[in-house]
Amino acid sequence: MFLLKRWQEKIIIAFNFQMCASRLTMRRLRKEALEQVENVKPKRKRQRTRGREEEPSSAVSPSVYHTFCEPADVRHLQTHLLRWYDLEKRELPWRTVALTEPDVNIRTYAVWVSEIMLQQTQVATVIDYYTKWMKRWPGVSDLAAATLEEVNQMWAGLGYYSRGKRLHEGAQKVMSELDGRMPDTVAELLRQLPGVGRYTAAAIGSIALGQVTGAVDGNVIRVLCRVRAIGADCTSPAVTEALWALANTLVDPKRPGDFNQAMMELGARVCTPKGPLCEQCPIRSQCHSYRKVQAKREQNSKRLLGEKDAKPPALQDIEDCSASGICPLCPLEPWDEELGVQNFPRKPAKKPPRVERTLTCVLTRHGEGGQEEFLLKQRPNKGLLAGLWEFPSLLLEKEEKSEKKQKAALCAHLDKHLGAPLIDSSLQYVGEVPHIFSHIHQTYVVHTLHLGDAEAPLRTGDVRWISRSALQEAAVSTGVKKIVKLCDSAKLQKELNSPDAKRQKNDEKKRPVRSTRKGKTKVTSGSNKQLTSFFRTTKQEPC
Ligand code: SF4
Repeated sequence: MFLLKRWQEKIIIAFNFQMCASRLTMRRLRKEALEQVENVKPKRKRQRTRGREEEPSSAVSPSVYHTFCEPADVRHLQTHLLRWYDLEKRELPWRTVALTEPDVNIRTYAVWVSEIMLQQTQVATVIDYYTKWMKRWPGVSDLAAATLEEVNQMWAGLGYYSRGKRLHEGAQKVMSELDGRMPDTVAELLRQLPGVGRYTAAAIGSIALGQVTGAVDGNVIRVLCRVRAIGADCTSPAVTEALWALANTLVDPKRPGDFNQAMMELGARVCTPKGPLCEQCPIRSQCHSYRKVQAKREQNSKRLLGEKDAKPPALQDIEDCSASGICPLCPLEPWDEELGVQNFPRKPAKKPPRVERTLTCVLTRHGEGGQEEFLLKQRPNKGLLAGLWEFPSLLLEKEEKSEKKQKAALCAHLDKHLGAPLIDSSLQYVGEVPHIFSHIHQTYVVHTLHLGDAEAPLRTGDVRWISRSALQEAAVSTGVKKIVKLCDSAKLQKELNSPDAKRQKNDEKKRPVRSTRKGKTKVTSGSNKQLTSFFRTTKQEPC
């Protein structure tokens, strides 16, 4: 009996030891896998400092489940995708140039411009800008000869203004350092052109130069993550490298440019972020996510019919890969049935945008010939909206500032640019304009002040008076255009609702009179009488 008890104890100890050992092995394997992932980061940094001329290699070998191992599967995907693309592709101006332009230099330039414009901007918005741009600067030498002011003017409204600046810098570099020849390989595009990263170089290289390389943009990330059920953070180095390796495996060597555009087109129109059209997808037979959804549905139907343990074989391999606990490409979160294929890709939670309030003053005067003019200030050449023109503005530091204090602060800011100090109370509050940048939720708190014919000499070189017609064409942001719109509609509304205006209208019918509305002095041309209405005298200045 005693011996039997000892044997039982030994068996239990041995069993526990075995369990511990396997848990430790699992932990070690996962740790090793994660270490491999982490090791990719410094490599990427080193590559950048070497001039980005080398293609980063994949540090982690993904499980076969996340790759394409069979050449037949690759060919199947290429054939079906390209057949769909040939039938369904949208006719876009840059695609036409890429197909029909025989001069490789012009072709490369044209695709470069389109790729830069398409970064962060919808195709529908880009078409118009692209057409105008190519009409004005059909070749790289034309762009190089333009001024940055002209480029900013052309770019106005497209957003992410540093892109236009980089294109301009790149064109000037091509003319001054490369003898007017556009770089003709992916590596050279990456090395020579400012603002051209790994994706853009690959896209230009494959579309304009026929280089056999995959190209991974946001749309392609989504398609590939769904096709191969890659559910780990899609911004992580391990996933990034796995996706590039996949794209390079799949790209059709005979039609690399078309293949890459087909992948992007599929992501934009079929494999969309929300509500993907899987039933219309030409590659659904190769899509793990689609299969997984189908398998889950089948499983649920069987359960409903009473086959409780039903588990279709199609689901087996998917669960096996993620259940290993060490796959760096599998999701950490469980499958959410409601999301379906939208379980992929997974992104880390976005940093919430910064909330800002900015005081703005639309300062106007009668310019030459009585035309209304606006005071605009140029933004610094670096940072947000670099080099663009805007109304003099002041970032509001403290939310609790009273309107009176806000006006005083805005006046003090305007005083820096004008030769004569303004009176706070002459500023009129008009309203607020919300404007969303990618990382900032901006609200412009808009004030106006019309100086009539008052002389308002300018103190600094970064401000200028500009006519209304010139403002429409100037390099200004969409936010500025929204502010003008608000002021115009407020002015119109005021005019329509004002009893004075109605009375004045009636009076005008009887006899011509000059406006005598309080606080709205109408000054005849050449008079500076209202100077004291808006500008403080020397005695008033310290406030
Ligand atoms: Fe995307 Fe659905 Fe096509 Fe898969 S089947 S690639 S999820 S659209």
